[in-house]
Amino acid sequence: MPHVVVVGGGPGGYEAALVARRLGARVTVVERHGLGGAAVLTDVVPSKTLIATAEWFTTAEQGPELGVRGEAPAGERRDLVDLEAVNARVLALADAQSRDIHSRLEREGVEIVAGAGRLDGPSRVVVDTGTGTTTLDADTVLLAVGATPRTLPTAVPDGERILTWTQLYGLAELPEKLIVVGSGVTGAEFAGAYQALGSQVVLVSSRDRVLPGEDMDAAELLEGVFRARGMTVMSRSRAASAVRTEDGVAVTLTDGRVVEGSHVLIAVGGVPSTAGIGLEEAGVRLSASGHVEVDRVSRTSVPGVYAAGDCTGVLPLASVAAMQGRIAMSHALGDAVAPLKPGRVAANIFTAPEIATVGLSESTLRERGYRYVTTTLPLARNPRAKMLGMRDGFVKLFAHPDAGVVLGGVVVAPRASELIFPITLAVAHRLTVDDVADSFTVYPSLSGSIAEAARVLHGQSGEDAAV
Ligand SMILES: Cc1cc2nc3c(=O)[nH]c(=O)nc-3n(C[C@H](O)[C@H](O)[C@H](O)COP(=O)(O)OP(=O)(O)OC[C@H]3O[C@@H](n4cnc5c(N)ncnc54)[C@H](O)[C@@H]3O)c2cc1C
Repeated sequence: MPHVVVVGGGPGGYEAALVARRLGARVTVVERHGLGGAAVLTDVVPSKTLIATAEWFTTAEQGPELGVRGEAPAGERRDLVDLEAVNARVLALADAQSRDIHSRLEREGVEIVAGAGRLDGPSRVVVDTGTGTTTLDADTVLLAVGATPRTLPTAVPDGERILTWTQLYGLAELPEKLIVVGSGVTGAEFAGAYQALGSQVVLVSSRDRVLPGEDMDAAELLEGVFRARGMTVMSRSRAASAVRTEDGVAVTLTDGRVVEGSHVLIAVGGVPSTAGIGLEEAGVRLSASGHVEVDRVSRTSVPGVYAAGDCTGVLPLASVAAMQGRIAMSHALGDAVAPLKPGRVAANIFTAPEIATVGLSESTLRERGYRYVTTTLPLARNPRAKMLGMRDGFVKLFAHPDAGVVLGGVVVAPRASELIFPITLAVAHRLTVDDVADSFTVYPSLSGSIAEAARVLHGQSGEDAAV
């Protein structure tokens, strides 16, 4: 029976372990913190649980318009939030999910070794268990070691006022004025959530607009919503340092301006956990950023060593990590394998409104010089959205101008993460706009706008319509 050793028990690692067991391998997972990885313990699960509380306030904002008395004015919200209860719920959910994964792996016969693993050559993993070392000889190794928050040497997190996202759930009180450094997905999600909970938020963005790299219309819409809700968005502003003051923090920007607040969250991306664990010594090629180089079936430069998830830098998403891990095991253990198709990945930004995307983005279509047709339907025109009092959002589709095949889409709406699925199906199965347009949607429903957008594109075939 081949022995698979998985280093790292996040979604890249534990999903792979289950697949490898199913394919008949002996499987050992080495994990230094807790099963579920950063995804479960500090990143996805905690942030989305916190955002669930924030959403409650965003929904309540609609109250007066819908005829409900008693909206909490933004200034009084902080008093309504029991942050200790919120954080306790966040941590309990994360802990429970980690334990569930632990039991599931044990039930499936996966051996779990607690400790920090490192490669000793291409087919041996040595684990520092804290009390000694364990050596595991492997036929196949999967590296799924993830990443940790990037910090700035001039803004050293102290867990009290200068924070990474992993430290937010230790706060006893809601920050009065939170400065968020970094306007990527993580920065935008937390900025939106704390603003909704009643913190005053300043979002420091080094770029022209928030969410660089995302659909430009969606990013512009979200920035407008942030500003309308009272958030201060500082564009083209790069943080140089953050220090504690007597009762808060001071963030100095590279142009010399100083922003003062009660707390600062540093959300400037992650660093792969690939240093000092014997990778280069074993011949595993790393990129300049320290990510493990992999192909589309998760192979590294060393036969028998695979890698999945954030340590590969392919796409920093739990769903992609899990898919890469599964693909790696199918490949290593001789099962049918379909290479990863990054152009089909669905992703969501959990702001209010949410921004969900799938397939090719407009910037990729343009960069590659593809011909395409597109249409954007504002949510405000959708009958269900009107009834719900929703205004901010849209549905956008991209399709091939001749064949009508759906190439990608963007949904900006509350619960866009759920609404994107019909477009995901269309992209995955190369459905045409007519296939989508001819399918029934419930009346009235937000998904009606997806079918409507497809109907608009039906009439847009031919050279003239192609962008
Ligand atoms: C705030 C935030 C919110 C996010 N929200 C979402 C979301 O909503 N949806 C989504 O799809 N993605 C989200 N992501 C991204 C997602 O968290 C990552 O893509 C995902 O965690 C990657 O999984 P992974 O298995 O590669 O790594 P991880 O989840 O980081 O797991 C790696 C594991 O390896 C362990 N490890 C590391 N080195 C060693 C070693 N030497 N020996 C033993 N164990 C080791 C670590 O302890 C860790 O448990 C979010 C990220 C952040 C920061």
